[in-house]
Amino acid sequence: MNFREKGNKAFVNGEFETARQEYTKGIEVAPEDPRLWSNRAQTFIKLEYPELAIADATNALSLIEPKIISGKYDDADLILFCKSGWRKAEALVKSDEYGSAVVELERLSQIANRRPVAGVDWNAWEREQDRYSKKHFQDIMFLKNMGSDRYTLIEQIRKMCKFPSRGAYPWDIRNQERCTEEGLASVQKLLEKISGKNIKVSLVSFPDASQEHEFGIVATKDIKKGTIFLDEKPLISIHTPGQRLCDFCNKPISSKKFSCPKSNCSEIFCNRDCFDKAWELYHRVICGKNLNSLYEIVNYEHKSSGSSLLIVLKIFSIAKQRDICPLDIEEIKHLFPFQHSTAWFQHGPIAIDFYFELMKLLEISVFDLRYEPWIYLTIYRKIKPNCNLFSPMTGTGQLYPIISLFNHHCDPNASHTDDVSRAIQRREPFVFFTVLSTQVKAIRNIKKGEQIFTNYMDFTGNDLSMLGNRSGSTKHARQTLETTYGFRCRCSVCESSSY
Ligand SMILES: [Zn+2]
Ligand SMILES: [Zn+2]
Ligand SMILES: [Zn+2]
Repeated sequence: MNFREKGNKAFVNGEFETARQEYTKGIEVAPEDPRLWSNRAQTFIKLEYPELAIADATNALSLIEPKIISGKYDDADLILFCKSGWRKAEALVKSDEYGSAVVELERLSQIANRRPVAGVDWNAWEREQDRYSKKHFQDIMFLKNMGSDRYTLIEQIRKMCKFPSRGAYPWDIRNQERCTEEGLASVQKLLEKISGKNIKVSLVSFPDASQEHEFGIVATKDIKKGTIFLDEKPLISIHTPGQRLCDFCNKPISSKKFSCPKSNCSEIFCNRDCFDKAWELYHRVICGKNLNSLYEIVNYEHKSSGSSLLIVLKIFSIAKQRDICPLDIEEIKHLFPFQHSTAWFQHGPIAIDFYFELMKLLEISVFDLRYEPWIYLTIYRKIKPNCNLFSPMTGTGQLYPIISLFNHHCDPNASHTDDVSRAIQRREPFVFFTVLSTQVKAIRNIKKGEQIFTNYMDFTGNDLSMLGNRSGSTKHARQTLETTYGFRCRCSVCESSSY
């Protein structure tokens, strides 16, 4: 029996996880066999990962569609084509993407030209298409009448689509290995590069947490109020397309800009140093490439909601440049993946479109299993709830993988400050608005051995009504922590609060 046959056997027996493994092994050996992709898509539907089924069905279709269009096909090809298209539509419906499902079915019946195909009742398909169209229209009306308050929105959307509070996919071995002694040692090394000797990374545990251990930062000696523990420059900075900011550090570019020396590349940097760092990290693989197709996808929605996709672009570029799987990038390996409450609603279909466009642009084969969609989505989930700071005002964003090691407390002993707010405090005139580095500072005396906490609500400070009331636990804060960061806060303030 080959892998596909083994997969089929497991599938028939209802052993879907085994089927997934067999099909995956088959894909490793024969990545251009559309049957494997199509069958794995069906398996992902059964395993309730419709987002992965959409991508697999898309791959199956891309392998078989040219044959159908050119007329060089047999009955088996046509059956597989219809099956794969139907599976894609089914996966889209399972992701509440009724509109896209309609488009998919329409395209399918056009290409197949309603030829008789075993197992396909074209009239029945048409009825399904009508049903999806109606549902799509209802969804649009529902969204239109909902208003714009973010919290009501999340509440309402929850009724409409599923929010799998999934972080890592169960087969993600790297996530299981995340909080081990080896993981700890490598994170400690990263921390030491930017911190003093008064703090260290440690494995800590929280009551009722979903995992036994998490990373945390602990004081190795008594620390005085006002001490700065570390100063982190972002690993990745991104800005909205078209802004005149350094592509590496986000600093506004004066007239004396440094352009990428390659003649077909229009990227600009502060100076040679920023260019060299970008070149070393990610720029080599995107140098001279036209990113407009990606920016169009990002701009399709609200500016700041698509920015995390641009961070994913740079992370994939780093991986391509190092010729490794993005999950093996040392600097972000330790980040905790969590499906942000608004992620699927805001990014579902767009994120999948972005994935395919990204792969094309970076010239990575969609059949290279080191860059599979589940890996891409895991990366996305790793940056969403971590130190991923966006300023809607400047349209810029940054990823701080070390600062995310600090855990949350509603009454913290440390806080973040960035260079912009420090300049404002010193009453300096604004030289630039974009943040170039972020520090963490003790806001009270801390004893040796104590864990150091910050307040994550500081990151969600885009809601200005919160500004006056950041410390202390509120129902609002607890909800945000759960839907954005994936945990129920059990800090001393929350435990004694009446909410
Ligand atoms: Zn720069
Ligand atoms: Zn360049
Ligand atoms: Zn709390």
